[in-house]
Amino acid sequence: MQQIATINALREQLTPIRHAGKRISLVPTMGNLHAGHLSLVKQAQALGDYVVVSIFVNPSQFVADEDFDSYPRTLETDLELLSNLNVDLVFMPDTSEIYSGDNQITTEVIVPELDSIYCGEYRPGHFKGVATIVTKLFNIVQPDIAVFGEKDYQQLLVIRSLVKNLNLAIDIIGSPTLRDEDGLAMSSRNQYLTEAERRQAPLLYKCINQVASAIKKGDTNYDKLESDAISSLKEVGFKPEYLSVCDAKTLKKPINQELVVISAAWLGRARLIDNVAVQTYD
Ligand code: AMP
Repeated sequence: MQQIATINALREQLTPIRHAGKRISLVPTMGNLHAGHLSLVKQAQALGDYVVVSIFVNPSQFVADEDFDSYPRTLETDLELLSNLNVDLVFMPDTSEIYSGDNQITTEVIVPELDSIYCGEYRPGHFKGVATIVTKLFNIVQPDIAVFGEKDYQQLLVIRSLVKNLNLAIDIIGSPTLRDEDGLAMSSRNQYLTEAERRQAPLLYKCINQVASAIKKGDTNYDKLESDAISSLKEVGFKPEYLSVCDAKTLKKPINQELVVISAAWLGRARLIDNVAVQTYD
């Protein structure tokens, strides 16, 4: 497994691979890898001939007072996990390699229709940071395919939108959310939960699922479903930011036949997000 930290070395490595006609798949991550990340890698391997995993804790997607400094960094274990999966190349640049010397960002990518709603409302600037770094990674790696988790549902839509609107020739693949046995979506931030909070945490998924199954049974009173679910979350100790039923493609209302129930809620120090997609046709 190649381990590369500079853009020039990466390009040197990938040019002959591309010229040989191999399809390059990219899996962008912030490291601290868990089985959810590894499932994306396996999907990338199934779809492409040469898999690049990037590990980069991107400062520009952390909002002021967030956990950038304390975000778990476990490079050695990450490399071992990726090497065990026979990943071809890990790209692990320093911040200065990605954001020119003085760390000033002078060009930014914004997806206006998704930038300031839901997670974007509570984390202003977050999606601009994500869209900018992902565009940079796309330009650096020039993959044919890139795999992202459906767990970060709004992020996946942001990336689909930027790829379409900037005419990038990259297939974006959404990969299903991997969960612990009790239903909690795997996330690096689950480590912030105390033991007691960890026992409560699966209730977020349960609550989202209850809304989804009510809709499947024909309930269309979305406002009430949302407010009841938010109240239930509060009752068991969550601090919900939002829980919303919205169109699966736009995250807006009105809703077409495909919808998604999305939520973000704090439990202690951990900000948890999750979602369940619902199709209202057979
Ligand atoms: P992160 O390192 O948190 O930025 O995540 C890197 C990629 O892994 C993103 O595309 C996430 O959506 C995806 N991911 C994170 N957690 C999960 C999970 N539990 N199941 C599937 N994909 C995930």
